[in-house]
Order: sequence, then structure tokens, then C-alpha cells
Amino acid sequence: MPVLTCPIREGARSHPEAEALTFAGRSWSYGALDAEVSRWVAALQAQGVGAGERVASLATNHVASVCLFWALGRLGAVLAPLNARLTAAELAPMVEDLQPRLTLALGALVERLPGARPLEAFADAVTSPASTCLPLDASSPRVVLFTSGTTGRPKGAVLTEGNFRASSRASAANLGAPPSPRWLGTLPLFHVGGLAMLTRTAYAGGCLVLHERFDAEAANRAIDAEAVSHASLVATTLERVLDARGDRPMPSSFALALIGGGPVPVPLLARARAAGLRALQTYGLTEACSQVTTERPDDADGRTAGVPLPGVEVRIVGAGGEVLGPGREGDVEVRGPTVMAGYWQRPEASREAMRDGWLRTRDVGVLDARGRLTVLSRRTDLIVRGGENLYPAEIEAVFVNHPAVREAAVVGFPDGRWGEVPVAFLAPRPGRERPGDAALEAWCRQSLAGFKTPARFVWVEALPRNAMGKVERTVLRRHPLH
Ligand code: AMP
Ligand code: MG
Ligand code: MG
Repeated sequence: MPVLTCPIREGARSHPEAEALTFAGRSWSYGALDAEVSRWVAALQAQGVGAGERVASLATNHVASVCLFWALGRLGAVLAPLNARLTAAELAPMVEDLQPRLTLALGALVERLPGARPLEAFADAVTSPASTCLPLDASSPRVVLFTSGTTGRPKGAVLTEGNFRASSRASAANLGAPPSPRWLGTLPLFHVGGLAMLTRTAYAGGCLVLHERFDAEAANRAIDAEAVSHASLVATTLERVLDARGDRPMPSSFALALIGGGPVPVPLLARARAAGLRALQTYGLTEACSQVTTERPDDADGRTAGVPLPGVEVRIVGAGGEVLGPGREGDVEVRGPTVMAGYWQRPEASREAMRDGWLRTRDVGVLDARGRLTVLSRRTDLIVRGGENLYPAEIEAVFVNHPAVREAAVVGFPDGRWGEVPVAFLAPRPGRERPGDAALEAWCRQSLAGFKTPARFVWVEALPRNAMGKVERTVLRRHPLH
């Protein structure tokens, strides 16, 4: 097994003056960040944190979370970043599963995690930093990330050092990233998208422009004034960046943005391109350490989620377990060095999720003749109307350009005649008159077949979303229809 060292330590040796991180108006070179991480290593050692042990952390984005991630790696210990929007009751079973050596929380979040120490002050008392940097092999667990599953007890995906390294390298190879990208970090570091951004930037010797949370104005300021070259966004945050930007042109320093984490409406990517932003659709999931497929920068039209990253394989499998050819819809499966080791202490769930090295994503998709993947739906979100498969994302995309609709979500409701029918939940654009059902139906019929047109339209003030900004479809399915 190759011995892997910390990329911050490597960076401190080969390019110590290069900028590694900016946060809240401060900046750290690789040399300075390395020194800071060494202080964290000493603080963790003082608490007896050793190889294989877990440290749980509850925080919004902060420099302390960056230091904690790298310091734990040097000790061979495992970070469990917990979602900062969860309640104490939701967090408790995760902590019970983890049996962490230590729990840390940022600011007022300590109240939600019994026994947690303040994260931001954790290394303050250290007087002698520790230069410890244990050799890790690729199979060493680095992170346990609880997935935002909508039912059942949350499962912790175990991601290894090798997963992060392979994902970072493959992403750079696909993007042809410049030697030192400046990555806008608005995704939370308690999500795989945030952690992947952190490692991808460090392995490339670049700078993470970290924001505490997504703010459209702050993101645009960073794009204009901090030479951001790359960003990872989801559809809603891309839309908010474009809205806040208005007619101001995109600077040429902003090379490209990765858009994923959920369905990406084609019209939205077209709008981004018209505004001068190269926005690439990407498909990924926690269990595969973020990106699985991504559009190639030189071959991007936003209509597919692109091709598998170098070294990653994707196949489509039918109901009987048979591998399907191009053009045929089925279950998406993934194999490669980015696929997780399994779920934390859940052998049964791990066996269920992975067979012969293939990760079963529970997403439905189709490959085209050029190997590009289109993700149609999560298996559980699929609407089966009279035997026809309807994909919520396809119906929702129709509303992206509707002047009176700010956002839309389509879910299946039981129906005596068809089994299930699509129902559209619509949030209005402020100051616009709400069209009636007949007008909405006519709008849909311009681009959708009749059987795909929602059976009902329901106005809501806003769509319910989880901490990742994903629409909570289970909440909508319980919505009373009068
Ligand atoms: P998570 O479970 O939070 O790791 O999110 C991963 C899930 O987001 C995937 O399993 C997909 O259901 C969804 N997803 C991610 N990227 C895309 C995409 N480009 N198009 C459609 N769905 C996506
Ligand atoms: Mg998932
Ligand atoms: Mg995601």
C-alpha cells in the first residue's frame, strides 16, 4: 500500500507561500495552515484521540473545521461531520452509532450536542504544536458522513483516504483544472460536496475561498474580487447567483461551475451559459465521495450529467439484474476507487448497497451512445401513472421559465384510476398574479405530453427543504389535497 501524506504538509514543503485558504477576511498560506493544523494535532493528542477513533463535529463552515479535518488525517482518526441544521433529537442516534472519543460544536451549536467542547477554541491553549503525520494507506477510513436519507435510521457512509484522493485527482483530470484553482466554498463542510471541494483544492495546491454559508451577494463579490476560478453549486444556489448578478458580466477568471446535488433543469444551465458562465452538470452522491459523472468542459450542453470520471465505471441495470445497453432506462450502479468502504457498523445495509464492488445508487438513469448519463429520478421519487414512468424532474423543469412560479416540485399521489398521478406544488414569484389551473395546464401542455401534465396544482408559500437544500418530498406527499 502506498504511504500517503497530508497534502497540506506536502504543500508547506513545496509551495509554502501559496494561498491555501481564505475565510472571514483572513488568509492562510500552505505554510501557515500547516502550522495551524499541527496545533490541532497537539490538541487532539491531548484528548487521547488516536488512530481509528471518531471525532464528531457540529458546525457551519469555519476555519476550525478545515484544521480539524486535516489534523484528524494526520492521526489516522475519523471525522464525523454532523449536519448543523439537525435537532438534538436527530443528532443523538448518530452520536450513539459513532461512539466518538470527542465531540466538538461551533458557537451556540454546543447546546445541541451534550458534552461537546467549543470547536473554535479547541486548539487555543496549545503551546507546542505536534508535527505528527502518520502514514495512511488508501483504505484508512477518513470520514463518516450520515446520508440525508428520507426514511429510517440514518446510515453513516465510511469514506476513506483513498476515496478522497481518487475523487480529487479524477475531478482535476476531467476538468483540466489550472495548477492552482481558487474554489468558491459555499457548500457545507458537513456534506460530501463540501469535503470534496476542500480535498480537491488542497491536492491541486489551490485555495479554498470558504464562506460560512451560501449568500448570493457574497458569492458574487468573491467571484468579482477574489479571482474565484471554480465553484460547486446546486440548482437553487446557481439561480440565486444569477438573479443577484443581474447584467454584470462574469469575469474571465471564473472558469467554470459544477452544478449537481439534485436534478439540474436544462433551461437553468442554458441561462447560466447565456450569462457567460460555463456551468457543467455533475451527478454524484455521498456513497461515491461526490462526483460520479461530470460533463466535459469541451463538450457540455447541460442536457446530461456527463461521463464517468476517469477510473470510475457506471452501468445501468434492469429489473432482473441484467446490464442494459445505451438508451435503456434502469438502475444506476457505480464502481471504482471513489466508492465508499460501506456503512458504519451496518453490515447488512452495506451488503445491500454494494454487490461485487458495484454501488447501487437507487437512482434511475440512462446512458447514451457516447457514455453520457442522464439521471431521471431517485427510484423512490418515480411516479408510475397507469404503468408509465414519470420523472418529477422533467415536469418540474417546465416551470423554470414560468414568470409566476418561483419553484416547483412534483410528487406522486395515489389515484383510484391510474394508481398514481403527478401533483405539482408551486411557490409563487413575489408580486406576480397566480395563474389558475387551466392556464397552468395549458403552460405544461406546450412542452409535456398529456399524461405527464400534473393532475393537480397546489400553491404553497415555499417548498420544504432539508439542510442540503433538497426538497423534502415526503413532507409534500403528506400535504392534504382539498
Ligand atoms: P446525497 O444522497 O445527499 O448524497 O445526494 C445524492 C443524490 O442526489 C443522488 O443519489 C441523486 O438522487 C441526486 N443527484 C445528484 N446529482 C444529480 C443530478 N445531476 N441529477 C439528478 N439527481 C442528482
Ligand atoms: Mg443519498
Ligand atoms: Mg448530494
